[in-house]
Amino acid sequence: MARKKTPEPKPAECLVCKGTGEVSRTVQVGRKHRTVGQQTGFCLNCLGSGEAPE
Ligand SMILES: [Zn+2]
Repeated sequence: MARKKTPEPKPAECLVCKGTGEVSRTVQVGRKHRTVGQQTGFCLNCLGSGEAPE
């Protein structure tokens, strides 16, 4: 029985989150939108998968 090697296709990395599925975004509060810090959020480009959408 011959074993067939199936090469796994490497998914393209999402350029927005660089394959992490998360992006850091600035958190702003108040009417003046003062920046209070950064928060890690869901990458909307790849929907958190870390793979570039086709
Ligand atoms: Zn992404």
